[in-house]
Amino acid sequence: MAQVHLEHVWKIYDGKVEAVKDATFTIEDKEFVVLLGPSGCGKTTTLRMIAGLEEITRGTLKIDGKVVNDVEPKDRDIAMVFQNYALYPHMTVFDNMAFGLKLRKVPKDEINRRVREAAKILGIEQLLDRKPRQLSGGQRQRVAVGRAIVRDPKVFLFDEPLSNLDAKLRVQMRSELKKLHHRLEATIVYVTHDQIEAMTMADKIIVMKDGVIQQIGTPNEIYNHPANIFVAGFIGSPAMNFVESTIIKDNGGLWIKSKGLKLKIPAKFEEKLTDYIDKEVIFGIRPENIYDKMFAIAPKEGENTATAKVDVVEPLGSETILHLMVGEDKIIAVVDPKTEAKEEQTMDIVFDMNTMHIFDKETEKSIL
Ligand code: ATP
Repeated sequence: MAQVHLEHVWKIYDGKVEAVKDATFTIEDKEFVVLLGPSGCGKTTTLRMIAGLEEITRGTLKIDGKVVNDVEPKDRDIAMVFQNYALYPHMTVFDNMAFGLKLRKVPKDEINRRVREAAKILGIEQLLDRKPRQLSGGQRQRVAVGRAIVRDPKVFLFDEPLSNLDAKLRVQMRSELKKLHHRLEATIVYVTHDQIEAMTMADKIIVMKDGVIQQIGTPNEIYNHPANIFVAGFIGSPAMNFVESTIIKDNGGLWIKSKGLKLKIPAKFEEKLTDYIDKEVIFGIRPENIYDKMFAIAPKEGENTATAKVDVVEPLGSETILHLMVGEDKIIAVVDPKTEAKEEQTMDIVFDMNTMHIFDKETEKSIL
């Protein structure tokens, strides 16, 4: 068992910097949880408090039901993998991986067995005699993970472990870490500012901003039902479109009306929006939910269509990103690469209104 529970946890540096504010969440046994947010949002501080490397200013940290606020890091049965790997340059890979076990006076045979087993899992058996400087970035990363694995800890903490790797290796390590999680049946807390890492690896994502938890949910929940404008804009690339709009009643239905758009709101959403009729709201729609009309299925003329001026066309091969202007509204769409859209020309686009979002303009919270 390895459950980690934070209850109203605060970290205030030097009596004034509120790095983490009132964090409450549970990481269940064997769960892969990602702390996600922009630089400075407090995710590393949260991780370091769990590790015991940073004192908790206020609140309670429990591991398996026991309060561990005052338990030394070495007695918490937690292993941390750092962004810079923190390998000892003068030691071989074997000795780097064995170091923690030697400190704990584990018998030599046992150390040998555990290091070789971890090396096998990570595919670095042939590197055990090398020094860190004789390794590639990806190999060093594996050694750092190996050093954590040999300890067989209750909880693994990862602090942006892939940020020093090139893009291709990052993709590969992402899936390796995910496989490792299943194989070890480990509880993992993983810090990153990369939303793709979070979406692809996490069982559960905790999104933070300015020290405050914004939302906790599965990748799907966070993508499909973001709690507020910040989360909606942070997850997804290119980011969700936000358009200042008013909800109006017309022709027996509700509509989104902005400077450039007039779009019919599907009837199934009407009930949730009745309090917002004639009020200003933020309309949100993801770029991947806007289509080039030439490739759209059954567009409803005058209900979910608009004519846009094409500002920039970015072909990526598998898809094309369009930067558009609809009246005064800037819209980004990700469309079929066969699009014939040309810069400076106009084109017709279609909105999948079943995927629309509405946010309160004042609180920025999601209404729909
Ligand atoms: P990054 O992705 O850049 O590492 P982060 O989300 O992990 O950012 P933290 O490192 O937890 O953020 O920092 C949160 C806030 O606490 C920041 O405003 C930071 O400047 C501040 N902070 C972090 N460590 C200290 C410290 N030792 N003393 C004072 N302030 C600190």
